[in-house]
Amino acid sequence: MKLSKRTETLEPSVTLTASAKAKELKSQGADVLSVTLGEPDFPTPKHIQQAAIEAIESGKASFYTQTAGIPELRQAIISYIEQFYGLTYDVSQTLVTDGAKFALYVLFQALLDEGDEVIIPTPYWVSYGEQVKLADGTPVFVAGQESNNFKITVEQLESVRTTKTKAIILNSPSNPTGMIYTKEELAQIGEWAVANDLLIVADDIYGRLVYGEHTFTPIATISEEIRQHTLIINGVSKSYSMTGWRIGFAVGNKELIQAMIDIASQSTSNPTAVSQYAAVEALTGPQDTVEEMRLAFEERLNRLYPLVLEIPGVKLVKPQGAFYLFPNVKGTMEICGYDDVTEFTDALLNEAHVALVTGAGFGAEENIRLSYATDWETLEKTVNRIKAFVENKRRK
Ligand code: PMP
Ligand code: GLU
Repeated sequence: MKLSKRTETLEPSVTLTASAKAKELKSQGADVLSVTLGEPDFPTPKHIQQAAIEAIESGKASFYTQTAGIPELRQAIISYIEQFYGLTYDVSQTLVTDGAKFALYVLFQALLDEGDEVIIPTPYWVSYGEQVKLADGTPVFVAGQESNNFKITVEQLESVRTTKTKAIILNSPSNPTGMIYTKEELAQIGEWAVANDLLIVADDIYGRLVYGEHTFTPIATISEEIRQHTLIINGVSKSYSMTGWRIGFAVGNKELIQAMIDIASQSTSNPTAVSQYAAVEALTGPQDTVEEMRLAFEERLNRLYPLVLEIPGVKLVKPQGAFYLFPNVKGTMEICGYDDVTEFTDALLNEAHVALVTGAGFGAEENIRLSYATDWETLEKTVNRIKAFVENKRRK
C-alpha cells in the first residue's frame, strides 16, 4: 500500500517505542528494568476514581459531551488557573482535550500553514517537532547549551527568527532536562515574543512538580501583554497520576481556541466523558495527594542524583523539576566504545536489560533520559546495572 508522504518522514514517539520494546522483552521472560516513560507509578487517587465510578453509575458518562468539554470541567479549569496562576479567563477561552498531547496537536493544526515556522528549544519533548510537521509547519530547533542548564537565550531566538516564525514552544519545567526558567529569563523571552508578535506555547504540564528551593513561574503571569500572546497547555496526567485517563487542556486566545474546538469536533468529537468527570474531581477535590506524590518524586531525585553521578563518565546538573534525569554520557560512551547514543541505549537494553530513552529523540546526541517516575528498587537496580555494564565494557 502506498502511504502518505507525511508518514514517510514521521518519527514515531521514541518514548513510547522504548517503553513498548521493554514490555516486549519482558513478555518474553527477560528481567527488564524500564525507566523509559514519564508516567507516575502511583494509582490515580481514590477520590478521583470514586468520582469516575459515580459518573458511570449515574449514567452521565454514557453519552457524547460537548467537544470543548463538559461545562463543569471548563469551569474547574478556570478556577484552577485562577488559583495557581492568579489569572482570570472566560469559558470560551478553554478547551478540554484527549491529553495535553492532543491539545498541542490541534493547536498546530489550527495555527500553521505550510512552511510556517515554530521555534523549538532543544532538548525538546519528542512530540513537538513531529506535530508541527504533521501540520505542514517547519520546526526550527534552537540548541539550549548544557553549560546554560539547557536554557535558550533571546539572542539565540533572535538569530533564528524569520518572517515565517509564528510561535515558540516553552516547556518549563522541562521534559527531558528538568530545568526551570527563572522569572527574569521568562520575562526576556516573553517580551521578545510580544515584540515580534509570536504565539508563546507554554507547556506547563510539569508546573506542580518542582523541588528544593525552585519555583515555577508560568510565563502567562509575567505581564498582560505576554499573557495575550500565550496559549497555556496543561493537564492532569502528571500531577494527578492520570496518564491513562487522557485529559489535558488549553487556555488562551478565544479565536484560536474556537479553531481548535472545530478541529477536535471533526476528529475526536469529545474527550472521554468518564475521564472528564474524574478530572473535575482532580482539579476541584482535595489536593493532598498531589503534594504526597511530589514529595515522593523529590525524595527519589535526591537519592538517585548522587547514584547516577557514580556511573563512570557521567555529567549531570541536578534537575529542578519534572521527573527525569538527562545525564550527558559522552564520557561513558567513550569508556564503552560507542560514539552513537542510540547504539549505546540499544546495547543497554539488549545486553543489560535496562530500558531508557536515547537523547537523540530529544535532539541531544550525548545524553540519555531516565524517568524516576518509578519505584526506588527499580531505580537503584537500574543504576547498578548501568555501572556494571560500563565496568564490564571497560575491561574488554
Ligand atoms: N508535554 C510534555 C512536556 C510531556 O512530557 C507530556 C507527556 N506525555 C505531554 C505534554 C502530554 O501529556 P498528556 O498527553 O498525557 O497530557
Ligand atoms: N510524556 C511522557 C514521556 O515523555 C509520556 C510518553 C509520551 O507521551 O511521549 O515519557
